[in-house]
Amino acid sequence: MILGPTLFLRCINDTCNHLFKSSSYQSGNTFGSRVYSDGKVYSPMLPKETEYSKCPNCSVFARNEDLKKRIERSEDIFLVEDNYSESDPNISYLVDLTIDEYVELLHTTDFIEDKAEEIHIRFLLMFKFNDRIRNRKRIFNNQYEQNIHEENLVYLIENLDISIEENKLLKAEFLRNLRRFDESLAILETIEDEEFDFVVNQIKKKCNIKSYLTFELILPDE
Ligand SMILES: [Zn+2]
Repeated sequence: MILGPTLFLRCINDTCNHLFKSSSYQSGNTFGSRVYSDGKVYSPMLPKETEYSKCPNCSVFARNEDLKKRIERSEDIFLVEDNYSESDPNISYLVDLTIDEYVELLHTTDFIEDKAEEIHIRFLLMFKFNDRIRNRKRIFNNQYEQNIHEENLVYLIENLDISIEENKLLKAEFLRNLRRFDESLAILETIEDEEFDFVVNQIKKKCNIKSYLTFELILPDE
């Protein structure tokens, strides 16, 4: 992964002077990618780009693709650390939203453009919980978090377009996450595209042993 200059991006709210500091990237590759049962692909050689952010100064949410059009200045990565004080409260790193911020964003109805974007944000929230498993941590710290995750999965199960074969697979996976194993198995039986056999078989095995957490898929040999 080759880094480009560090960008300073102005907050989306024109009345706010906050700057976000963000690395830019010149190249990366998909070497060593891992694929998980929730659909997430983790590529260690690609930058971990986030999609939404919240300003710590004015609390306004932004799409990072919009923020990245608001470059205030750009500095050579090797000079930035010397010239810039980490303690400047008007500058912060562009970081991913927390679970609570994703929930808040979902309730910010004048922000979300359409149902497709709501589903997309809900996928990011679902990944956020499952990232804890990927990082070998407990998925929930309390009952409140468990409720948020489970309500989110129910929304996705009810709103995914299952005329798309991949979405049937995801619906089966989310039912398994909710420990609704029989319903998950019933949907897996309806998936006919042989391309997905290796995923179907792995999710079935997990259902049969009543295992419900996301897991890394074993990929078929090329
Ligand atoms: Zn702001």
